[in-house]
Amino acid sequence: MCGIVGVIGNRNATDILMQGLEKLEYRGYDSAGIFVTNEAGKSKLVKSVGRIEDLRDKLGIDVSGTAGIGHTRWATHGKPSVENAHPHTSASERFVLVHNGVIENFREIQAEYLSTDDFKGQTDTEIAVHLIGKFVEEDGLSVLEAFKKALSIIEGSYAFALMDTENPDMIYVAKNKSPLLIGLGEGYNMVCSDAMAMIRETSEFMEIHDKELVLVTKDNIAITDYQGNPINRASYTAELDLSDIGKGTYPFYMLKEIDEQPTVMRKLITTYANEDGSMKVAPEIVKAVQEADRIYVIAAGTSYNAGFGAKMMLEALTQTPVELGVASEWGYGMPLLSKKPFFIFLSQSGETADSRQVLVKVNELGLPSLTVTNVPGSTLSREATYTMLIGAGPEIAVASTKAYTGQIATLAFLAKAVGEADGLQAAYDFDLVKELSLVAQSIEATLSEKEMIAELVKKLLLETRNAFYIGRKQDYFVSMEASLKLKEISYVQCEGFAAGELKHGTISLIEKGVPVIALLSDPTVAAHTRGNIMEVVARGASTIVIAEESVSKPEDDIIVSNVHPYLSAISMVIPTQIIAYETSMQRGLDVDKPRNLAKAVTVE
Ligand code: GLU
Repeated sequence: MCGIVGVIGNRNATDILMQGLEKLEYRGYDSAGIFVTNEAGKSKLVKSVGRIEDLRDKLGIDVSGTAGIGHTRWATHGKPSVENAHPHTSASERFVLVHNGVIENFREIQAEYLSTDDFKGQTDTEIAVHLIGKFVEEDGLSVLEAFKKALSIIEGSYAFALMDTENPDMIYVAKNKSPLLIGLGEGYNMVCSDAMAMIRETSEFMEIHDKELVLVTKDNIAITDYQGNPINRASYTAELDLSDIGKGTYPFYMLKEIDEQPTVMRKLITTYANEDGSMKVAPEIVKAVQEADRIYVIAAGTSYNAGFGAKMMLEALTQTPVELGVASEWGYGMPLLSKKPFFIFLSQSGETADSRQVLVKVNELGLPSLTVTNVPGSTLSREATYTMLIGAGPEIAVASTKAYTGQIATLAFLAKAVGEADGLQAAYDFDLVKELSLVAQSIEATLSEKEMIAELVKKLLLETRNAFYIGRKQDYFVSMEASLKLKEISYVQCEGFAAGELKHGTISLIEKGVPVIALLSDPTVAAHTRGNIMEVVARGASTIVIAEESVSKPEDDIIVSNVHPYLSAISMVIPTQIIAYETSMQRGLDVDKPRNLAKAVTVE
């Protein structure tokens, strides 16, 4: 969600900014802009609605610079338009600002300080840059003092990168809640929302924490708190490979990431299991979970569904109840907790603002927590007590696939390690290394059925406006994820339903031709789900039956090879990922960048 890039001291600033913005596209955005300036004091500000390509077209060829800032906007205040796109300028246009986040008290600031100012657009950001401009140009503060004063007034979430056109040899940076990093180059420096934006230029990065102010020049990084106390921070090397973030020969990232899942499963085996099959999970994490009387899994979107996918396994192997929490709800209304809670935060990006809101509360209460994420060094990873990395490699498509399956598999290692430490037989009996290898094979078998699945999509899903996924137990949880995926990228209204619940009301929506996709993997409930399939067929539904081999019938549409029931949420989701991908593709939609969505949801 939203991306910021900035660079200072490099002759190719424009190119670095544009390439950086392209790398940030995956986060989701609706408009973009850059400001560049050169040593001769010539500068240019270009903004555009739509894709980075559109911005590139507008740029022309004469825009060279040595410093600048760029932005991809995911509108929160004011519609996507050129006026509302960032960078924004102060009243005199001397100051230029990009911002990620939401300024909560922008109306109050406008009323108190800027009541006579005219604004070009409706954003909260424009208020902030006018405020800084006013403090310098009307009140006579230095730029640094003005920035600090503005920061002491502004409430909300922000990553700011500010430039002064009169002294363009510095970028003023500050952040609270929204992500921002410093990238260190040879003779120049950068700022960016995530390391991927700058990995072409450098692998050396420096974190910025909340409520820190950073002065970035071409050869220096000075970090202070808001009181001006200097902060020493070591840099770190990001273990990212430029090739990890390319599409290779694939038409879309999503397809590449779907195909990477067998590799992700096998990689997790080497990360979290020793050669003799014993678990390689940090003992302090295992101990902390052992001590808990309840595990709370907090997440949003696909990660929330992954929490459900792992719930049965976590409970069975650790003999500890597991409760799921929607992050955006729990941040504001924490329910009554058990006596010894342990929190697990699931977040692909590790930046999910809603989850972080809960983590802040959990930390205030002094409770132990674990973040399971794909992004090392991310905010949730830094702030939770412990971290387990999925190690799936960058996930660029907005719709998550390998992070979902990777999260469940990572939790499997944790569950088994805890169960074994507790001496539970069920944990010893579960040969996770063998079972996860079988999952990898099952995924590969399903991936080889893409063409057949594409045909089913063509027949049943190409024209429809709505659809249902149904399943029971574990398959119900997969239905939730399957329907989310279809909604996200194909814009088909789809509900994931507990198969037995449908007849209690929602079956009224079933009429001729409505697609109902049924998932069956559990022999204890397969017959009941088949009964529910008959009920919808009797009312005219067109069905697709996805069944695990163990419960399949010859007439079923997609057969998934058998895996251990604890891991069926991984194998059963694969055909549904392909269904979503194919539906989006065949409808001619932007598979990787669906409308209105953002990859890292960094606003609450
Ligand atoms: N609130 C700002 C706006 O609507 C920033 C949005 C963003 O983070 O992209 O322009």
